[in-house]
Amino acid sequence: MDSSDHSDIASSLSPQTLLVTSGRDTTAQKGFVNPPVVRGSTVLYPTAEDLHAHRGEYSYGRHGTPTTKALQQALMALEGPHCAGVGLTPSGVSAISTALLSVLKAGDHLLVCDNAYRPTRLFCEQTLKRFGIETSYFDPLIGAGIESLFKPNTAAVMVEAPGSQSFEMTDIPAIAAVAHARGALVIDDNTWATPLYHRSLEQGVDISIQAGTKYIGGHSDIMFGTVAANQAAWPKIAEGIRQLGVCAGPDDVFLALRGLRTLSVRLAQHQRSGLDMARWLAERPEVQRVLHPALESDPGHAIWKRDFTGASGLFSIVLQHAPQKAVDALLDTVKLFGMGYSWGGFESLVIPFDCATYRSATKWNPGGPTLRLHIGLESTDDLKADLERGFAAFNAAR
Ligand SMILES: *Cc1c(COP(=O)(O)O)cnc(C)c1O
Repeated sequence: MDSSDHSDIASSLSPQTLLVTSGRDTTAQKGFVNPPVVRGSTVLYPTAEDLHAHRGEYSYGRHGTPTTKALQQALMALEGPHCAGVGLTPSGVSAISTALLSVLKAGDHLLVCDNAYRPTRLFCEQTLKRFGIETSYFDPLIGAGIESLFKPNTAAVMVEAPGSQSFEMTDIPAIAAVAHARGALVIDDNTWATPLYHRSLEQGVDISIQAGTKYIGGHSDIMFGTVAANQAAWPKIAEGIRQLGVCAGPDDVFLALRGLRTLSVRLAQHQRSGLDMARWLAERPEVQRVLHPALESDPGHAIWKRDFTGASGLFSIVLQHAPQKAVDALLDTVKLFGMGYSWGGFESLVIPFDCATYRSATKWNPGGPTLRLHIGLESTDDLKADLERGFAAFNAAR
């Protein structure tokens, strides 16, 4: 038997094993473990009859290559049995815009959680508005109370749990139950946990989005996004992708597949190190509060424990009240924590943020300066020593 054909046992394999085995076709790859990076637009048809019938496994580069097929099969296995298809997009933002444009039409109303990724809000407020789609925002803690915000034309609800700055946990199953009773679709930005730790499609979500730029890539070297959907939503997503002309570059597709193969070990380490750092930070006198749903003390912990099987390495802290120059002294002192956007790579990052500047359905008032940390794969002893130096500079400048 072909050593990479696991179809007979696939239904009994754990997600960790499926990340290694899915999307591999050893025969087609002439024995090699991995598919080649197929760069291609034109696909040649052997006969006029084949051409007329569009017969063949591949028809055109934008519609799929052996590289994209391998990645899509692996992603489908990761998303789980409710997944009817996965679209590949050139960035996380394009995954979000493609999903929204594929399922909404002029005259529709969209509900978006107030802690959504900020560029999602921008797309809703500017592009969707231009096409006659109205967006309103809801408190991420609203749960089944979202019912009162529904209008007769509410077509979709967009959630993100936890929000990637403030880390509030949304009760997705409760929101999905209300949305489905009203005939609306639920779209989840699942970038923080990935489907390895949060099977969105099994919790009532119809469309599960990931910025593959983050943990799927895992090395801060690609821009990539995925839109996975269930049977109800996949035909719309597939048609949207086709008509918008969305496709991802072959190198990024290859690197995303390569990243997936080690996702389970990387994420487990990000989780361990992240929790170690979060617990250490919670004891620091400079820190008022740690915003991390896997901490027992976090207000979102019960929902996280019910709906998620793990946590990634991204969380935030609220510092004691201090002037900006003290925060800047901390940022300028740390060496292992790079200052920069994005996350999910092997390296640790820190950025200041302020949700108050854009929130509209809720008030954001954490009571001190806020920093978001991504805990990479460095030793946590080294990371603690680095932050200790940063806190010394913070205290000296207060
Ligand atoms: C980074 C991010 C995105 C966007 O991904 P890009 O690949 O940078 O476009 C979307 N959602 C969340 C939660 C993110 O963190």
